[in-house]
Amino acid sequence: MTNESEQSFAVVIIGGGPAGMSAAMGFLEGRVKALLIDRQAQLGGQLADIPSPIVNLAGAAVNNGEELRVAMQSSLERAAQFAWADEKRPLLTLRNNCHVLNLAAFEDFISVETINAQGIKSSVRADFLIFAGGYRVRQLEAPTAHLANFWQYHTDNLAGQSDLSASSLAVVGGGDSALLKAISLAPKVKDLHLIHRGKNFTARPDLITKIAQLPNCRTYCGSKIAELIGAGKLERIKLDGGEEIAVSAVIVKVGYEPNTELLEGLVKLNEKRHVIVDHALKSSHDRIYAAGDIINEEHARISTAVGNGMKAAGSIMQRIYHSRSETSERS
Ligand SMILES: Cc1cc2nc3c(=O)[nH]c(=O)nc-3n(C[C@H](O)[C@H](O)[C@H](O)COP(=O)(O)OP(=O)(O)OC[C@H]3O[C@@H](n4cnc5c(N)ncnc54)[C@H](O)[C@@H]3O)c2cc1C
Repeated sequence: MTNESEQSFAVVIIGGGPAGMSAAMGFLEGRVKALLIDRQAQLGGQLADIPSPIVNLAGAAVNNGEELRVAMQSSLERAAQFAWADEKRPLLTLRNNCHVLNLAAFEDFISVETINAQGIKSSVRADFLIFAGGYRVRQLEAPTAHLANFWQYHTDNLAGQSDLSASSLAVVGGGDSALLKAISLAPKVKDLHLIHRGKNFTARPDLITKIAQLPNCRTYCGSKIAELIGAGKLERIKLDGGEEIAVSAVIVKVGYEPNTELLEGLVKLNEKRHVIVDHALKSSHDRIYAAGDIINEEHARISTAVGNGMKAAGSIMQRIYHSRSETSERS
């Protein structure tokens, strides 16, 4: 792989998670020049956030997402080395720490505007685009704007607080992530308050059972945080029913949403802002394909993302090979 800068590519892949990495491997196998862009410093997307063993992926017995991330990255590097050895030129260009700011779609090409970590903007042109932007953690609006800095969004690291034994914390959410977070935190803290706006938790039954067995976890179904209270730091939260609870941090785990803003107005999205694709994973724009979580509203999984990436690459390569053979027949 190289980090060199080029202005024109057969394909640009946006998103270096499992879907984007798999697409890149497909293009390496097919010897097609591609640019892979990710705004994070490393490839892997959400994989680095998976703390537990992954048990639903064929061929990968890993203890956490980071192990899989490293394995996937080394597969990609290996594929790039094989392709380089054959072609004697780099086929995959990688840009990490590179944020896609804007996309413009034309009949014959896609223009991708990016900004890197140094604030330098550039624009590349692609014959085809695969968008594999994945999911991000959904945010709550801070109930009181001027207290927004108290709102400890998704503070999995709870910076500077390695000893939490005297702390009271709140976790917001009712799905698997929220309950898993509560179960992992409960043994480390004094009190845990699990707040969920729905009447019932939506998490797996075994997690609901475990929560009920935690001696220091109180649950509040049908409740929302109405106010954050404190002087200089978070001291209490007020629920919409009026009850006040002393907490030093609020951890929000209210699900995920697709990173599809860049595609708005360019391709058709469904009501939950997932990209609508056909059997070849082509969107409503002839040159834009999509893969991974952003098309898998019902089943956002690693294996689906990996399969999608390869499928989208295959669909594009068929078109590239077809147009090459038409050109050579004409000449
Ligand atoms: C806590 C947790 C546990 C999970 N456990 C499992 C499990 O056990 N098994 C399983 O199968 N799945 C699991 N998943 C889901 C799995 O991680 C996802 O389905 C998978 O990562 C989706 O891959 P993706 O490539 O579609 O998207 P992502 O992994 O989200 O990658 C998308 C990438 O696109 C980049 N990007 C987005 N927008 C831009 C932009 N504008 N410019 C540049 N880059 C951009 C992001 O930085 C990111 O790196 C879990 C997820 C989480 C969060």
